[in-house]
Amino acid sequence: MHKRYIPFAVFFLAVLLVLFAHLCGRTMAAPAFTFAAEQKEIYLTFDDGPSTVVTGNILDTLKKENVKATFFIVGERVHGRKSVLQRIANEGHTVGVHSASHCYEEIYSSNEALSKDVAACAEMIERITGTPPHFYRFPGGGKRTTMAGLVQGMGYEIVGWNAVCGDEEIPNADADTLIKTAIATAKGKARVVLLMHDSAPHTATAEALPAIIDHFRKEGYVFKAF
Ligand SMILES: [Zn+2]
Repeated sequence: MHKRYIPFAVFFLAVLLVLFAHLCGRTMAAPAFTFAAEQKEIYLTFDDGPSTVVTGNILDTLKKENVKATFFIVGERVHGRKSVLQRIANEGHTVGVHSASHCYEEIYSSNEALSKDVAACAEMIERITGTPPHFYRFPGGGKRTTMAGLVQGMGYEIVGWNAVCGDEEIPNADADTLIKTAIATAKGKARVVLLMHDSAPHTATAEALPAIIDHFRKEGYVFKAF
């Protein structure tokens, strides 16, 4: 190459290098933008049912919104409401064990009493829905760690919660209060397990459910059942 062309060649090479580095930089930086944001998910859970009116209203909303939820059943409340329990299962929701009696004095009196209570509720669920349950929620709270091993030993996964709508915690809460409480207690959590109740007094819970679903859907949450 003629000497006088060398500066031009060096300049040309430099331009190419800068271009190349720029393109590489873009290519290498690109994956940072393509990583999906952490998937947010919410589990709607209903305890203490089935009831005739409230459970039915909740199931109507879940069907309309195409959302699957988890129901922790009280065995004694299934009497006369077999069809409600069947509807929960038939519509694709998960049925879990809550208790046969929901009577704290009775079920927490001994390990034997608790295992009998769990087994009786599970037997009823399997007999009526045809599917044995795999999930369990402690009546009255999720912190009975001394008895957790017993229930796990029976083959159940224990499900707690990390957000509430307040239908048991706030006396006579209206639907608006339940919506606000659900949003406030779930705030900042990527995985929400929301505690609600579908037993007879909780008509406000059924009333609040459409707005609760709407809120979490708009926030990008995916609805899941256990
Ligand atoms: Zn309960």
